[in-house]
Amino acid sequence: MELKYTSTRDNRIRCTASEAILKGLCDDGGLFVPVELPKLPVSPADICAMDYRECAYTVMKEFLTDFTEEELRSCIERAYDEKFDTKDIVPLRHSGGAFYMELFHGKTIAFKDMALSILPHLMTTAAKKNNVKNEIVILTATSGDTGKAALAGFADVEGTRILVFYPKDGVSPIQKLQMVTEKGKNTRVIGVDGNFDDCQTGVKAIFSDKELAGRLAGKGYQFSSANSINIGRLVPQIVYYVYAYSRLLKDKVIKDGEKVNFVVPTGNFGNILAAFYAKKMGLPVNKLICASNENKVLFDFFRTGEYDRNRDFILTSSPSMDILISSNLERLIYHIAGNDPEKNASLMAALKSDGKYEISPSMKERLKGFEAYYASEKETAEKIGSLYEESGYIIDTHTAVAAAAYDKYLSDTGDDTVTLIASTASPFKFAGSVMSAIDRGIEGKNEFELAEEISSLGGVKIPPAIEEIKNAEIIHKTECKIDGMMEEVERFLS
Ligand SMILES: *Cc1c(COP(=O)(O)O)cnc(C)c1O
Repeated sequence: MELKYTSTRDNRIRCTASEAILKGLCDDGGLFVPVELPKLPVSPADICAMDYRECAYTVMKEFLTDFTEEELRSCIERAYDEKFDTKDIVPLRHSGGAFYMELFHGKTIAFKDMALSILPHLMTTAAKKNNVKNEIVILTATSGDTGKAALAGFADVEGTRILVFYPKDGVSPIQKLQMVTEKGKNTRVIGVDGNFDDCQTGVKAIFSDKELAGRLAGKGYQFSSANSINIGRLVPQIVYYVYAYSRLLKDKVIKDGEKVNFVVPTGNFGNILAAFYAKKMGLPVNKLICASNENKVLFDFFRTGEYDRNRDFILTSSPSMDILISSNLERLIYHIAGNDPEKNASLMAALKSDGKYEISPSMKERLKGFEAYYASEKETAEKIGSLYEESGYIIDTHTAVAAAAYDKYLSDTGDDTVTLIASTASPFKFAGSVMSAIDRGIEGKNEFELAEEISSLGGVKIPPAIEEIKNAEIIHKTECKIDGMMEEVERFLS
């Protein structure tokens, strides 16, 4: 049976998976959601015998029902290959009482590679299936990691162009270098004089500009998105939750059917939403623990039922989580409202006009499977230091937010459920913050020298992603104001 997608703001919309991937965002500003969430077609015990690709096919085929087996397998094979530095694709590491699910073994050393390695293949396949003749223009707002992962995925892919907007003072030095040295001929990278929310809001506004879309169609272009609002990013992210569970089962850490916790360092709510979908599909999950940095809008939401973005935007050492408008939360809101588009649309309208909304008690009741904690800058740094002292394992700042949040959850609950922490970036990507947390005197050292130190302390080789930007030429120097984003899009396409 074919699974259709609808809008979180209008249930009359019906799209196939490939159409939803091509569009990215619904015309009404809502997000695509499956009309019905599929169940896992096999048990986690059956997945023990599968490698990552086979697991990916097993999960993704339930969502992308208008792709043929051959099409989907081909996308998966081209995505999860030697670009990853380990055959496991997602290795698990046991340290300090939890399992770290290392999602950073792809090309740009952050978890965004898990989905952005496959999205370009899904998108070009979807374009063929739908007889799209236009060139697809990928517009992307990034808090640091999506940008490079999307550039790496779409660089020189025929029939596509990609434009990335990043907050010019809101990403780590390595993240910035990774983006501005991108060589792909169909790419452009622009620093915006604003924060991530400004970039994302700007991109969404460009998406919903019908006049612009009409003019571009005339010139042979159409927009799509590489942000986690695209279901083509969300679906591949469900895979690793199922896969990681099956690895624990295979290693006899857990028994068949035993529940586990997942702790997810959260920004735009894409990664943890994928975990929620995995749970809805039948994966045995106890708690989903949403971890925030000092931009703790989600922590407050889960505690009080009120989402309120009216607060200062704080630049932290975990920049990929510096977000006050978590786009994917809209999908959760829609689901806990009982798949009610009117209710969701009215809350989203309130968010737009007042910067806040409050959910009903019955909706709040449906959030029971979630827990929320946050970590301050100090707690995050302390966690990196203490875990290193205790075990020699070096984690990045985002992962440390999750690990510190988990410590707080443990001391509140004493819950002894086996727990997996999503490890979303390599520590090499945030060398300065990581080394200052380990406290080995970083004064006067640059990011590359600090990477050498992480390598010798942690006993891990410096990843090629770092080596290759060391002496690379800066190609993208353009910056713009928030209200100049539209003009940059027009210039890119003229
Ligand atoms: C994007 C990102 C996050 C946040 O993920 P969301 O899906 O946006 O919640 C966390 N850590 C790192 C390193 C990231 O790149």
